[in-house]
Amino acid sequence: MRPPSLLLQLVAAVALIASTSGLSAESGPGSANNKPVTNAKDAKTLVSVSGMTASDYAECVAELAQKKVVLEELGNVTQQGCELSGAIRLATVATAFGDVNISGKPSMLCSFARQFSVWVREAGAPLTLAYTGQRLAQIEAGEGFACRARYDKPGVVPSEHAKGNALDIASFVLADGRRIRVKQQDSDMARDLVRALRTTACGYFTTILGPGSDPAHEDHFHFDSGMHGATPNYRICE
Ligand SMILES: [Zn+2]
Repeated sequence: MRPPSLLLQLVAAVALIASTSGLSAESGPGSANNKPVTNAKDAKTLVSVSGMTASDYAECVAELAQKKVVLEELGNVTQQGCELSGAIRLATVATAFGDVNISGKPSMLCSFARQFSVWVREAGAPLTLAYTGQRLAQIEAGEGFACRARYDKPGVVPSEHAKGNALDIASFVLADGRRIRVKQQDSDMARDLVRALRTTACGYFTTILGPGSDPAHEDHFHFDSGMHGATPNYRICE
């Protein structure tokens, strides 16, 4: 009975591929199950839906335009299993001390961009000028919106990056071209500036992580505005 046996082997092989690929009707982004779902083989099954109402988004974009923040409107964005409504790309934040470019124009929710731009205006730009005598020309950003689990650990809740509510920062570039890295500073002045920037961020965001927090944040700051618990009062400021 060779033919049936071959057929069975084929069926078994297909079943094995299906079970290891992470692709199934239950775990797809389009499923009705909105709980975060991850799979060791395929993080694309991570499901996160977040965003702003259309009217809040319109108000946010108008407010940023009025503050001379340069951005690109993205509206609704889907990346793998994550959906954002009310997203923008953040390009430049105007401050009293000159324009600050955000490298890579990271995408994020407009509401997070609004909070981040306030920090750049009120703390990032003036502190940099005060400590270095040079204006802050550019913030070298890492990830903004990114559809992944916290610490990239499958099975864990989505990162605030997956909700468009976070930004990573690697360094600050001065008008004279000097680069002040979050990871390691080459002078006391640079070290003091990085510490001051980190401390002020605790007044603007709910989570601030960086060197010394954990191995995943040794070379960058992570700022987010996630809710830890029922209210935004609890903060992680490490
Ligand atoms: Zn981060």
